[in-house]
Amino acid sequence: MTAQPHRITVIPGDGVGPEVVRSAQRIIAAAGVAIDWEEAEAGAEVFRRGDTSGVPRATRESIERTRVVLKGPLETPVGFGEKSANVTLRKLFETYANVRPARELPGVPTRYAGEGVDMIIVRENIEDLYAGIEHMQTPDVGQCLKVISRKGSEKIIRYAFELARREGRRKVTCATKANIMKLTEGLFKRVFEELAGEYPEIAPEHLIIDNVAHQMAKNPAQFDVVVTTNLNGDIISDLASGLVGGLGFAPSGNYGDDVAIFEAVHGSAPKYAGKDVINPTALILSSLMMLRHVGESGAADRIEDAVLVTLEEGRAVTQDLARQTGGDVEHAASTTGFTDSIIANLGKQPTTVPPRAGTERPSGPAAPRPRWSYGPEVAAAVPRTTVGVDVFLETWEPVAAAGPALEALAGDALRLQMISSRGTMVWPSTGLKPDAVGLLRARYVARAEGAAASDADISALVARIGERYAWTHLEKLHVFAGADGFTKAQGQ
Ligand code: NAP
Repeated sequence: MTAQPHRITVIPGDGVGPEVVRSAQRIIAAAGVAIDWEEAEAGAEVFRRGDTSGVPRATRESIERTRVVLKGPLETPVGFGEKSANVTLRKLFETYANVRPARELPGVPTRYAGEGVDMIIVRENIEDLYAGIEHMQTPDVGQCLKVISRKGSEKIIRYAFELARREGRRKVTCATKANIMKLTEGLFKRVFEELAGEYPEIAPEHLIIDNVAHQMAKNPAQFDVVVTTNLNGDIISDLASGLVGGLGFAPSGNYGDDVAIFEAVHGSAPKYAGKDVINPTALILSSLMMLRHVGESGAADRIEDAVLVTLEEGRAVTQDLARQTGGDVEHAASTTGFTDSIIANLGKQPTTVPPRAGTERPSGPAAPRPRWSYGPEVAAAVPRTTVGVDVFLETWEPVAAAGPALEALAGDALRLQMISSRGTMVWPSTGLKPDAVGLLRARYVARAEGAAASDADISALVARIGERYAWTHLEKLHVFAGADGFTKAQGQ
């Protein structure tokens, strides 16, 4: 029993949300943990009232007070341009670490049963393509910016190593596409390699993300902690959930320096809403991550044991699991009945489940101990030269004509180095003939070898190009501390 109740914001959410959240709340109360729940709203009803963020001010204020949230799934209306309320919550409170354990559970049949799958996917939760910076370059060409920072990478990679250390885990796998995206995924990989040296007791490993998918399907028990960028993490964490029983059993925690948000991976499953049939295990397991985060590890262990005993017994089985096991779906346990069974099993120990790896359980983020310094002075001290500019322009003109025309516009200070279409060089001709899509990139560099391209030169160039072509955006070509801050085109 805790002396002082914990204050926690609870967002019941949409669809089946209130049912699974209620189940977790009942179990926590039965385990004797005193919590002052501050109930708050977000999601569908809030959007319907015209709040385009889906997260009202009162909810934000509650989270600022309590700094811990248990949350049901939220629906985001499709087609009105609204941003997801889930993503808004994660970003508002900078919960940069999305942690998704995937562990084999008793009584939950999978292709890998008995192999001891027990991994944690640590996904960067703020950056990457999920920064949501998208632009149509032409009526028919969209573009999404992939933003990866050294600081964002350091935070999540350090988080993963600290988590591995706390849990006594032996290996951290970094999953990237660094072979293709050298400046973004490659930065993430380089930061991983540099930080790994600070954790000598943990084996670092880097795998290309597609191989991670392959290895997970073939031999998932080889993985321990996996750290990865946002989009990669989104996909492989769902894959990992699928390996151990699927959405009904997949918990998650979103950790920031100040706020942590705990939620099931699944959505609002609207067709089951209000029917008392949904499997609440995922939200219950998420609530255990929450209890450990607030220092209630003893209660979390007792509840976890009761969940495992209930699954092991197989007497109270929700309909999703009954379907998977070929059991009696007609007489499957209700959400309430399954919850009652877990409560009845509090105090019992599972008999078939091996103890977890390590002695400690996931908790809040590690105290930040940055390896690098960040900030305007540090950035300003990096020697840099702007050596040219990429000008993206909308045109269907054949490059045989566009090339000489764009070269003629280069002026005295700059020269046209090449033109590419969707990243493949098309001028000067390499013999490759990629399909045209109406958008070209013209790369201009300083005429004199090693010279800088001034803003005045670039502005004058863009003005000249603008008289003949519709340019859509510009990217300066920087060299930072002697290293090119841009990649070559395919075929260049
Ligand atoms: P979903 O709600 O996760 O449901 C898809 C299917 O997964 C369900 O029909 C059901 O499969 C199964 N399922 C989900 N939760 C389950 C559980 N607890 N126990 C057993 N089976 C479960 O995905 P969706 O239909 O794509 O999304 C519905 C809404 O939720 C959307 O508005 C979406 O934006 C939102 N969403 C929110 C979150 C979040 O808040 N974090 C996450 C994802 C989606 P069967 O039909 O086979 O029974």
